[in-house]
Amino acid sequence: MDALKNSLFKKEAPGATSRNPAPPHKILLVASEGYPFAKTGGLADVVGALPRALIKLGCEIALVLPKYKSVSPEKYRLKYEINGLAVPMGMGDMTADVLSTRLGDTQVKAYFIQCDRYFDRDGLYGTPEGDYHDNAERFAFFCRSTLELLRALDWYPDVIHLNDWQTGLIPAYLKTLYADQKAYQKIKTLFTIHNMAYQGLFPKYVLPMTGLRWEEFKQEKLEFYDQVNYLKAGLVYSDAINTVSPTYAAEIKTDEFGQGLQGVLNIRAEDLSGILNGIDYDEWNPATDKEIPAQYTLKNHDRKTESKVKLLTELELEFKAQTPVIGLVSRLSDQKGLDLISEIIEPFLAMDVQFVILGTGDIRYHEMLQTLQQRYPKKLAVNLKYDNRLAKLIYAGSDMFLMPSRFEPCGLGQMIAMKYGSIPLVRKTGGLSDTVENLSPEGKKGTGFVFENYQAQELLFIIRRAVEAFHQPKIWKELVQRAMTKDFSWDASAKQYLDLYGHIQRK
Ligand code: ADP
Repeated sequence: MDALKNSLFKKEAPGATSRNPAPPHKILLVASEGYPFAKTGGLADVVGALPRALIKLGCEIALVLPKYKSVSPEKYRLKYEINGLAVPMGMGDMTADVLSTRLGDTQVKAYFIQCDRYFDRDGLYGTPEGDYHDNAERFAFFCRSTLELLRALDWYPDVIHLNDWQTGLIPAYLKTLYADQKAYQKIKTLFTIHNMAYQGLFPKYVLPMTGLRWEEFKQEKLEFYDQVNYLKAGLVYSDAINTVSPTYAAEIKTDEFGQGLQGVLNIRAEDLSGILNGIDYDEWNPATDKEIPAQYTLKNHDRKTESKVKLLTELELEFKAQTPVIGLVSRLSDQKGLDLISEIIEPFLAMDVQFVILGTGDIRYHEMLQTLQQRYPKKLAVNLKYDNRLAKLIYAGSDMFLMPSRFEPCGLGQMIAMKYGSIPLVRKTGGLSDTVENLSPEGKKGTGFVFENYQAQELLFIIRRAVEAFHQPKIWKELVQRAMTKDFSWDASAKQYLDLYGHIQRK
């Protein structure tokens, strides 16, 4: 039976030979955010960059995103693709409009599900006060619309690549409501976990709204302590699962990192792998970056100082060449180690350093940082906003980049920082552990500073070590050289995704 399946696939895949089956050709990437259209974090960077790398490997790839208010039709030249797409939901039939454009200058088609009642809002998932109350409905509708879009386009991908809880119902729908529809039967699904901490957990009364039947509300399916869990749906019903670094793939099977879903992940251990995210160096590159005052490479690396001067001037801090600037660009959430920073802020700022923060997130961290800003106006600059330009100026203008995460599925900040010659100070967890190597005692190896346990004193220790190393010019120069030449481009990771798509398709 399996042999028959394989041979049918081979026949369908263009260019296939019996010795060397062609890789899956048609991929649909579905996500709740994607750069440049809408971004709150690393997921958007991945969604904006992976298709560009996959298309170079010969894939036909399309993207589906919600049409948020921030996705300007003029700026992105959106065209109406479908008016009034019928979307059957549990509470009755609804409609979506579908708009489309290309991703940048590529052939990748990006589709946007438009339904103003759900997506025409300032935030993507909520406000600083909390999540939107109807997120269960918003993303069930997004999932169902995506599947109906395929029918309307008469375009059925080999693999649907899903990302995070917002897309978790798609595999569930395929294995239930669409299971007897021929066109959908061959579609395989890959579910990528970008963060186990966000699960899409809702009261069970939302289940009828999704259109799924109560028989799916079981512990071995999408029920989680008497609630509906969209992430769990993705993990249970998809054909394969991956996460965004090898270390996090191992960590999430443990009680410490599994966020209650470690049992499910252990059951699916054979289908779970880790692929490190890449960085899009067309976007993140000090040699070409137009947002910084002077472009630089390793060879004229001293021009990085112009970014440091601009950054400090803009933030009203005094420029002192011998004082290291430490940057932090982050969502302000429990995950990112802000409690550790607040614990050591006094001895930290007693050192000869300047600390520049850019971030948005939990109100309590906004308040905490505002208080600190008032106490340390000459050493600390707190910017509570989302600002891509300032982010780039911080990567370029800082000497070090702080990322003491409690857990970190992959983390892009540390990789971007390395490219800009800002040395990462990180905790040994998840993707941070896979990408940053601690400076060796004699200073000849390593790309950053790494501490092991989530303890304030350990963080303070590596900050001290980093500041010491900063004042040893030879060691620092070589450290920056090693960091800047690390290659985290997408090419290698995209090949791993292509292999994984092929593997899923042959299952
Ligand atoms: P996460 O996805 O957990 O938020 P990552 O390190 O994977 O963290 O990705 C964060 C991305 O979001 C990086 O590109 C970073 O530069 C960007 N970013 C985070 N906060 C801000 C902000 N306030 N302004 C601009 N960019 C930000």
